[in-house]
Amino acid sequence: MKRLRERLSRAQGGLGQGLLALLSRDRLDEDTWESIEDTLLTADVGVTPTQELVGALRTRLRVEGDKNADPRTVLREELVKLVDPDMDRRLQVSGTDGRPGVVLVVGVNGAGKTTTVGKIARILVAEGRTVTLGAADTFRAAAVDQLATWGERVGVEVVRGPEGSDPASVAFEAVKQGVEQGTDTVLIDTAGRLQNKAGLMDELGKVKRVIEKQAPVTEVLLVLDATTGQNGMIQARVFSEIVDVTGIVLTKLDGSAKGGIVVAVQRELGVPVKLVGLGEGADDLAPFDSGAFVDALLG
Ligand code: GDP
Repeated sequence: MKRLRERLSRAQGGLGQGLLALLSRDRLDEDTWESIEDTLLTADVGVTPTQELVGALRTRLRVEGDKNADPRTVLREELVKLVDPDMDRRLQVSGTDGRPGVVLVVGVNGAGKTTTVGKIARILVAEGRTVTLGAADTFRAAAVDQLATWGERVGVEVVRGPEGSDPASVAFEAVKQGVEQGTDTVLIDTAGRLQNKAGLMDELGKVKRVIEKQAPVTEVLLVLDATTGQNGMIQARVFSEIVDVTGIVLTKLDGSAKGGIVVAVQRELGVPVKLVGLGEGADDLAPFDSGAFVDALLG
């Protein structure tokens, strides 16, 4: 958690510091509230959550007129409320009846899917679980090689098909192998060509169906690049229409000052951020902890 705070605070510190500076002014006039709104919108918090937060701050710091209220305490409490709606953030990686749990990892190319699959595998193996990886991003030959490298690094088997093969057949084989070998969890990397929504819908639908013939899909993780802002939100919406997303992985938070997207995407999809990516290294994936996140925002 210490690292989460260090990594995040480097990129995000500006948001909390900016808000605190504004809230600490002697007079909280309309100009100040507008600047507060701008600061939140610039950090991708989204329109509705911004209005709600500003409404709450206005009530507590101005209307109630508590001159002794500490802006930092009030801001922290309100941010925690915003970031931490009561959501279950545990990864569902266990199957039933002796079958593996299957985690499907989806998102547009470049969001960090393959890297995230590798990092999750590493975490699960460190917890003593057995893992099989399925390289169903068959569209990009490099993705399959990249996953194979992660497999070697983490010490888990990677099921892959010939170049250009059907993603569903690779997913089928990976889960089949997981069932036969009694693996705890099968992680499936998928392709994310959003330019063809109908094609992607067919492809992911088929991938899911062939998996479910053998073992339950326990988690569908949508990987989103935090640096893509509103564009990322549009992608998130499209994916949530295509598959039943159960959790979000927000990558590249180390390089983005737009941590507000955590709030926006949870609100939009009604799905919790479960993991955050904080760098390219094998250990740079952390469970999302709302308290630590808000503390990092406040610097
Ligand atoms: P995919 O196309 O969705 O499978 O994306 P990749 O896993 O290939 O990742 C794309 C690029 O983003 C790679 O260079 C990764 O190293 C990088 N990347 C992934 N996650 C993170 C992260 O959390 N932080 C940073 N800084 N880079 C990341």
